[in-house]
Amino acid sequence: MFDLDRLVRDNVRRLKPYSSARSEFAGVADIFLDANENSFGSPAGNGFNRYPDPLQSDLKRLLAAMHEIGPEQIFIGNGSDEAIDLLMRIFCVPGRDEILICPPTYGMYSVTAGINDVRVREVSLTETFQLDVPAIQSAVSGRTKLIFICSPNNPTGNVMSRRSVINLIENFDGIVVVDEAYIDFTNEPSMIGEITVHPNLVVLQTFSKAWGMAGLRVGMAFANAPIVELMTKIKPPYNVSSIAQAAVAAAMQEESKIGEWINEIKKQRSSLAQALEAYSFVEMAYPSDANFLLVKFADADAVYRHLLASEIVVRDRSNVALCGSCLRITIGTPDENEKLVISLDDFQRQNTITT
Ligand SMILES: *Cc1c(COP(=O)(O)O)cnc(C)c1O
Repeated sequence: MFDLDRLVRDNVRRLKPYSSARSEFAGVADIFLDANENSFGSPAGNGFNRYPDPLQSDLKRLLAAMHEIGPEQIFIGNGSDEAIDLLMRIFCVPGRDEILICPPTYGMYSVTAGINDVRVREVSLTETFQLDVPAIQSAVSGRTKLIFICSPNNPTGNVMSRRSVINLIENFDGIVVVDEAYIDFTNEPSMIGEITVHPNLVVLQTFSKAWGMAGLRVGMAFANAPIVELMTKIKPPYNVSSIAQAAVAAAMQEESKIGEWINEIKKQRSSLAQALEAYSFVEMAYPSDANFLLVKFADADAVYRHLLASEIVVRDRSNVALCGSCLRITIGTPDENEKLVISLDDFQRQNTITT
């Protein structure tokens, strides 16, 4: 049923990729005069005069050990946003093919599709923010190449039923992309363990959220080797800078520190949810498996403006499907969350009519 070769765009299949100096010669030598770098050095030091490893071998070795998979099952990109773009360009013919998304979800899937002139089919999540599997399956057409599933989902914060996701993967000829940007904040297991048995599954993760390195722009796609090879074939040769590769590799030695932060964020998430639900102007704080809370207010706009006046910025999601009157609030430090609560106490006082 699943035939990767048939799914790939003709031009990508035929493409002879750019061959960089560092991919043509990856051995050891004394003098490198093959890449037109500045051999004198760099004013920034740190060997920045040299191009980075185009295949991020050190980082892949560390990630392979961490996830108990092979380095050939890992793609590393300039943020997971790069992986989203590359997947569309590998599989979707502009002006003809489609992706399928389940709103409300991460905005970059449809923006990237728009940039690539790829049509977007939308099948709304259910009222409980779960996948509507029969509706998705009947919306899929012969031109649907990719289904994007975000779990835990942004902005709703919930994990999608694993059985539904597996059902979609097993009954779709195209690629299912499961975006796990927030996987570190849930106790549910990652889908990475499924890539070996499902050739049409791509799992995205990122160093931007729990790992605290959004500014470095490093994201990952986990899939079987043939898909990773295609992504590598069409990526810009030096897509991850040397400073980003080195900093992420060093940070991976600090996994225990990240673990402590994640535990603290989870604790803060539940106490903040509890505090929020006590306000009369809060309709509900949705259960969250991510590092944010989606909160429904009686008047989201008034709360948004009040918080802004206290110099606290949250994300207004009230115009998003199924998220009417909702704000998305990232879990901050205990101090930041306390300031948020103080500002909301203040809002409560101002809006309580005393008689
Ligand atoms: C934040 C986020 C990302 C991260 O993208 P990067 O490019 O890796 O920073 C990916 N997917 C979702 C759903 C996100 O919320």
